[in-house]
Amino acid sequence: MHSYSWGFYAHQRINRLAVFALPPEMVGFYKKHIRYITENAVNPDKRRYAVEGEAPRHYIDLDEYGDSALYKLPRYWQPAVEKFTEDTLMAFGIVPWHINFMKYQLTQAFKERNLDKILRVSSDLGHYIADACVPLHTTSNYNGQLTDQRGIHGFWESRLPELFSDNYDFFVGPAQYITNPQLRAWDLVASAHIALDSVLSFERQLTIAFDEEKKYGFELRNNLTTRVYSREFSEAYSKKLNGQVERQMRLAIQTVASFWYTAWVDAGQPNLGTLATSLTPEELHRLEMEKKDYETGPHKPREEGN
Ligand SMILES: [Zn+2]
Repeated sequence: MHSYSWGFYAHQRINRLAVFALPPEMVGFYKKHIRYITENAVNPDKRRYAVEGEAPRHYIDLDEYGDSALYKLPRYWQPAVEKFTEDTLMAFGIVPWHINFMKYQLTQAFKERNLDKILRVSSDLGHYIADACVPLHTTSNYNGQLTDQRGIHGFWESRLPELFSDNYDFFVGPAQYITNPQLRAWDLVASAHIALDSVLSFERQLTIAFDEEKKYGFELRNNLTTRVYSREFSEAYSKKLNGQVERQMRLAIQTVASFWYTAWVDAGQPNLGTLATSLTPEELHRLEMEKKDYETGPHKPREEGN
């Protein structure tokens, strides 16, 4: 079962930085709510165990469809259902189609001038777009479990950004209008999938070059001694990847801003300065319940570093 996505840190960072790529008509509104957009960037991951049908929204196991799946899969949901059945699509993940569905919902939210919905869908959409940029979200070998590389998921998307992202360049330029959001979602998946071979093969090469005790180290996290990929191994991996994590994060930031902007344009560019300024009591209650579900409900711990 998939239980990962960009670490919480990267998701929050991506949503937050996307705000600054917005045009003048939007940036004030998003800045006002930047705390919401940042903190709730991880809600879709928190919902995975409480909400039926949530998990497949975060990935697509392209290899399950055989060779050159990237080119053979129908781009649009209905033809894909007709070709493979909905059960099959749900089993192997639906992230590119779900991004397009969320884009539609965000456009509707802007048309309705519904603050609760605009913020909720903006934040969720940012999450799914970021997930689609992660190479290991495009394969059934999502944690290296099929190639004896267990733990690589958290290594790539949590450990590396946490260690090195202070040196990444996150200035991505302004949001761009997206003519075809569904095809753009597939472009993200394609760019992630093309990077997958390096993600796996570089780790394998370095594992051969490093002694086991040099590959891993121990760090104190939440008062627990935790095994992590050593700094030395992480540096060597990051160097071999040659900016790949940074590129995918930048792609995510730029694309999140562009999707928000596109939804707003498609809704007729409503004046965001005249929207309600605070969430409704119902929405605050819903957020509170969702938080409680996560804290008390069953959920598997992330498998980082195992
Ligand atoms: Zn996710």
